[in-house]
Amino acid sequence: MPTFPSDVELPKVEIHVTEVCNNRCAFCTTGWINAEEGPKLVHVPRETIRAQLEKAYAEGARRALFQGGEPTIRRDLGDLLADAHALGYQATTIFTNARMGASKAGARWLVGMKVTWFQVSIQGGTAEAHDASVVAEGAFQQTVEGTRRLIEMGQRVKINAVLTRHLLDSLESFARLMIELRPEEVGMDTVKPTSAFGESRAGYADLAPALGPYAGALRDAVLAMHEAGIVVRLTSFPPCLCPGIERFVSEEAKTTITHGGAGVPVNKLLWKRSMQVKAETCAECAYDATCGGVYGPYAEAHGNAELKPLKERVAPLVAESAPPVESALTLALRALFVREKTRGPFRIAAVRALAGGAHELDCVSPGGAVCVSLKPASEGAAYAKTGRFAVSYRKGGEGASPDLRIVDAVVQALRKVEGQLPPG
Ligand code: SF4
Repeated sequence: MPTFPSDVELPKVEIHVTEVCNNRCAFCTTGWINAEEGPKLVHVPRETIRAQLEKAYAEGARRALFQGGEPTIRRDLGDLLADAHALGYQATTIFTNARMGASKAGARWLVGMKVTWFQVSIQGGTAEAHDASVVAEGAFQQTVEGTRRLIEMGQRVKINAVLTRHLLDSLESFARLMIELRPEEVGMDTVKPTSAFGESRAGYADLAPALGPYAGALRDAVLAMHEAGIVVRLTSFPPCLCPGIERFVSEEAKTTITHGGAGVPVNKLLWKRSMQVKAETCAECAYDATCGGVYGPYAEAHGNAELKPLKERVAPLVAESAPPVESALTLALRALFVREKTRGPFRIAAVRALAGGAHELDCVSPGGAVCVSLKPASEGAAYAKTGRFAVSYRKGGEGASPDLRIVDAVVQALRKVEGQLPPG
């Protein structure tokens, strides 16, 4: 059972750092500004960003997300992160297409920024679907390579995907890709209305088909990712349109402040609500108080007959999960096991804290990825037990046949040093 990462709970400010981008996403305002005004675009000055960070911190924000455009295009991105860390932000996120991470040098540069989270935009399950959505040939290969490299280098990665027809038509492949890459979290949003949609540009209805016919494919993809241990969230998504997976609907936090291209801070949930509409019958729905309905252009394109009031609420998964806490034991396990480089083909790429004092290790072996879980020794059957830990494993990807020598090596290492590890 995946658990919900703890720092997502921190009040967040989203900072717009540049209009410049190497993708041209058809659903994104920035994509079309680049296509039409590319050479004129400039980055937001560092001083402006620092002032926005200071103000947001004073108002309670403790997590800073840097978005664009494509933030990794800025040479001084590390300075912006350093400013946020110096101000006291407890968590930072770079919202990126991860193409920069496709090269070893680019990935090393990003890892050096000590970011809490990379939020990577993957917009389809195949190269054809992703490249069509981001209107950039060859982008998928770089994005997947960059994401894989960041995860292998021990970075925390969550994926953001917009439910355009390109993604909806490739959901099965998308879920397989996520299970192979193993990010911490996958968030899927419905298509927001933006100024990207206009007379001379893509139409909203072209990119955002009616969701009802995709309910089965969406349910299968969400459940497959969930069962593989990935936290999955559907945002700005009416529960009545996702039967069987209503518990994965998770609204924007009420505290999130976002800065658009104009640099004006707005409450993100209220901003979304200002663009959403509901059916008259929504008043009878058990979700009426918390659901925003669908975006206006969606209702114009597809009507609201799909919106069917639900009699009962299903408890959201997010609230059910106790947030895992990174303890001194998490840090000690990370220091013990995670290596960016090793001489042989075996490697541990990441250590994650789970709820209940458990941990997961993402391991690389010649036969494929393997995920090793460490629970308190008292917890039932296991592949092996040490004095303190019950060690078990599962395959990390499709068709892989992991070499269990990596699991045995973990067991041996724990037996040697567990007496010196701090309590969990
Ligand atoms: S019927 Fe209306 S309130 Fe209920 S889930 Fe659907 S859109 Fe939301």
